Amino acid sequence: MTDVKHMKWWGWGNEGSAFHHDDKPGFAPFVLEAVGLDLLTATKAEEPDFAQLEVPKSNVTAAFTKTLVGIVGEKNVSTDDKLRVIHTYGKSLRDLVRIRNNWIERAPDVVVYPADEAEVLAVVKAAVKANAVIIPFGGGSNIAGSLEPLPTEKRTVVSLDLGRLRLVTSIDEESGLAVIQAGSQGPDLEAQLNEKGWTIGHFPDSFTHSTVGGWVATRSSGMQSDKYGDIADIARGLRVARADGLLVLRPLPSTSSGPSVREMILGSEGRLGVITEVTVQVHRIPVKRDVYAYFFPNWKAGIAAMQAISESDAAPSITRISDSNETGFTLATSKGRKGLDKFMAGTALPKIMAAKWGKDNLGDICISFIAYEGSVAHAKRQRALVERIIRDHDGLTIIGTGPGILYDQKKFDTPYLRDFLLDMGAAGDVSETATPWSKINQVHDAAYAAAQKAYDEIGIKGWIMSHMSHSYHSGACLYFTFAFVFKNDPVAEYNLVKNAIQQSFVDNHATISHHHGVGVEHSPWLEEDISAEGVVVMNALFTGVDPGQNFNPGKVTAAPGAEKSAGAAGRVGATKGGAAKPAAKPAAKPAATKKPVATKAVATKAAPATKTAATKAAPAAKATPAKKAPAKAPAAK
Ligand code: FAD
Repeated sequence: MTDVKHMKWWGWGNEGSAFHHDDKPGFAPFVLEAVGLDLLTATKAEEPDFAQLEVPKSNVTAAFTKTLVGIVGEKNVSTDDKLRVIHTYGKSLRDLVRIRNNWIERAPDVVVYPADEAEVLAVVKAAVKANAVIIPFGGGSNIAGSLEPLPTEKRTVVSLDLGRLRLVTSIDEESGLAVIQAGSQGPDLEAQLNEKGWTIGHFPDSFTHSTVGGWVATRSSGMQSDKYGDIADIARGLRVARADGLLVLRPLPSTSSGPSVREMILGSEGRLGVITEVTVQVHRIPVKRDVYAYFFPNWKAGIAAMQAISESDAAPSITRISDSNETGFTLATSKGRKGLDKFMAGTALPKIMAAKWGKDNLGDICISFIAYEGSVAHAKRQRALVERIIRDHDGLTIIGTGPGILYDQKKFDTPYLRDFLLDMGAAGDVSETATPWSKINQVHDAAYAAAQKAYDEIGIKGWIMSHMSHSYHSGACLYFTFAFVFKNDPVAEYNLVKNAIQQSFVDNHATISHHHGVGVEHSPWLEEDISAEGVVVMNALFTGVDPGQNFNPGKVTAAPGAEKSAGAAGRVGATKGGAAKPAAKPAAKPAATKKPVATKAVATKAAPATKTAATKAAPAAKATPAKKAPAKAPAAK
């Protein structure tokens, strides 16, 4: 058995880790108010039981298995059901609901763990020769449906797990360029860099369970992108295993050698080959790093300040502002008597705010986190520049670093919240986008209106909140989180809300994703994002370099002949400007043919996203979680 570690098969993170709110007194009242879910009386679902899962049989032949074993050794080839299930999906809400509902239409037939680039290349060559499908697997953290095999795939599907390629192999200290094997996960590679005094500066929320190869393949962005850039800026050199050999892009500061092949690999989600190695720009660990909190009277004032900062000489590493809903959430998840709670309840801050902005307007306040990194003098100067702009925009600069320290500490914990809500019969998920400054407020308001319309249609009280992060000269990323308690049909309801928000993006001059990629979840909107001719160019690239469709087919652009919505969040029949409508014809077998693996309301429901919109087979769900035995006690976070 390989030594590669995986996340739990049914949720985020390692076994034994989970979100809890015992030390967050404001959280339960907040959830009750936001979505009507009473955490004090609701009971958590029990952990799903793998034994109840029906896993499709592997079709791998003895001859092909022998070939793979010949390359990587017996213990690095597996047809074990649990490993195949772990390699089937990413961690989107749709993935989690499907896996908890025993919905696995097509799992990889075999999982392979090569040790190095030579073995990756040999596996790729053997797989293409055998006309198998290769799906590269990094950390399995994507939330766009980028890993799942096509349900109709008849060929053998190989999940090629890069987990044994986890070394920082060299650092060019003179140029600040580090060579990193593609399967290195965030904490592992950062520790190896830190040992030598360097940092990659790339910290997505999923940092703890995602890989550098996955970051490149999905065009990821980390929370400090304002200083360090997105992975598209950070990744300078690439090595990619293809059927006929290695594609090698040397790390260059810039080049004008034709259209950028490096950019073609970025965001290709495994369709152009398997990335084996990434050379990244690294930076000396900053002497000083502080995250400061600020308050603004409202969203518009805060956004105007963020824009002014991006246009100024200041260069903070994080510029982030939460809208008033997300500010409320941040205050509610603050630990009792620490961080923000201390400032809001234990000091004169509310009085100061009321005097400055009027006590009737305090519901509009927005919190902002801004980080300064570098030498002491640099950080000090950046802070002075930024705080002048904040004051010019009616912001408060007296809060200091207390809440920022807390933000920094819990930044990788929030992913656990989604599983917690799902256990309670509620959805919590995200949609993110980027748009020019001139459209930021319009996109923000349009997403809110779209979500509300979807909630009204379902007849539920839903929640939406947003923040702006990742600033550029011309615009920024907007990140929306939405939540609601399932009413009748979890996936159909989830689709309705998510689709409505996604549609509002393309209708308002925003992109379908700033950093989560396309996969199958966002591909139905690709044409509206990049134009029909853009899709033609992209398809020509994919089919031109992979005529046999051996590399992760159907991701980013739909597989030839596939239904437009195949795998997507049920967007069949979606109309321009409106939410998804149920499609007339079923895409495949109905959800009801499989039995659920878990015991509570959400877990006893319905079909996956891909099917729900296309079938009427999904049974109704209950609005609130059933009272069952308590879940296994999760370890505190
Ligand atoms: P996987 O999920 O394993 O794979 C993703 C895609 O890349 C697949 O198509 C796969 O085939 C392909 N791929 C993976 N490795 C290779 C390789 N070596 N060669 C070729 N193709 C490959 N993303 C952000 O950018 N920023 C965030 O802040 C962020 N926060 C998140 C928070 C949560 C809770 C979750 C669940 C996800 C978040 N994500 C975020 C999304 C996700 O973590 C990213 O998409 C990440 O880059 C995926 O990396 P991975 O190694 O897990 O890739």
